[in-house]
Amino acid sequence: MPAIASPLLPDREPCYAAVMAKSSMTTAVLIVAAGRGSRFGGDGPKQYATLAGQPLLRWAAEAFLAHPAVSSVCCVIHRDDGATYAAATAGLALAAPVIGGATRQASVRHGLEALAALAEPPDQVLVHDAARPLLFSGVIDRVLNALAEHNGAVPALPVVDTLKRAGSDQCIVATVPRADLWRAQTPQGFRFADILAAHRAAPHDDFTDDADLLQASGQSVALVEGDEALLKVTTAADLSRLEALLAGTREMRTGFGYDVHAFGPGDHVTLGGVRIPHDKGLTGHSDADVGLHALCDAIYGALADGDIGHHFPPSEAAWRGADSAQFLEHAVGRVAERGGRIMHLDLTLVCERPKVGPHRDAMRARIAAIAGLALDRVAVKATTSEKLGFTGREEGIAAHAVATISLQASS
Ligand code: MG
Repeated sequence: MPAIASPLLPDREPCYAAVMAKSSMTTAVLIVAAGRGSRFGGDGPKQYATLAGQPLLRWAAEAFLAHPAVSSVCCVIHRDDGATYAAATAGLALAAPVIGGATRQASVRHGLEALAALAEPPDQVLVHDAARPLLFSGVIDRVLNALAEHNGAVPALPVVDTLKRAGSDQCIVATVPRADLWRAQTPQGFRFADILAAHRAAPHDDFTDDADLLQASGQSVALVEGDEALLKVTTAADLSRLEALLAGTREMRTGFGYDVHAFGPGDHVTLGGVRIPHDKGLTGHSDADVGLHALCDAIYGALADGDIGHHFPPSEAAWRGADSAQFLEHAVGRVAERGGRIMHLDLTLVCERPKVGPHRDAMRARIAAIAGLALDRVAVKATTSEKLGFTGREEGIAAHAVATISLQASS
């Protein structure tokens, strides 16, 4: 994720080292995604609207999953959204979702109770609105850091506009002093036992947010520096603002990969992560999955990060007969380490036999699962070379792949 600094406050660095020093603390995340988003005006709940081709909820979930201090991430969803949620979060290592309640406060309570019922409840919890998709690690660091001294912590930005109170005729009645006014954001962080007790003892269901509830119970809630990019999507215009913000911080990269393996004795080939019975095998140091190898090189190419032979030298015995899924997992991990996202993988296999068509969907599903991608971001195509050349003579299989990735702009 790109680090977008708030222009409004000096950065309160450094926080990261302190957060890691407390890594013995377990931190769970609740993403509240049970609302109906009636002000948004889209086709469905706003948390499933897409930003740069990806649901808002998925942006938030990925941000937490990538943070080293986060132990688990659980979404609180509406009971009608199960299928939409499953599609939006395909491939992500999330805890099973919890069904929300009639209000936001009730939904958070349901999530907290689910965490409390675990064999080992967390030490701390971060509660986040799914409609705030652009969450950068610095905000999480600052919230967790503040929990060392306070029962709760909230990212916030100072109010910079002059505030007016208007009468019923839309004329100004008074100017409201803004010196000590802040705009609260999420994720809001809490010591788990404190926020659970405050929710259980809440006298009503109308608290504005969880910080309000905890502070009303007499505990200290600190403000830490928020981030303008943490904008809460309320209207379609908000989505457009975030699209523009993202476009200015990201660049698209394309990588190309090519690989060949020769046929040899055997009774199956492994292509695109799928075992296919055949009257020959493919020879190679690993499982000789020519398709996954080409995809790896496409991803490494987009990152300008060497090639598969550099990362997994054929001279190393460890890779003898290896499942090539681990090579693809490595390449995907290198993208994540750079704060990038794979937008699309496109693989073409060139062979006369075996016929790829009957196995195409299984290959797409396997590649999507390994790479943590939605199925519509993975293409597998097949062609022959019209009996020409080594593929035409059935001496081997060739594979071509293209990877499109989104990376933080380097300059
Ligand atoms: Mg190879």
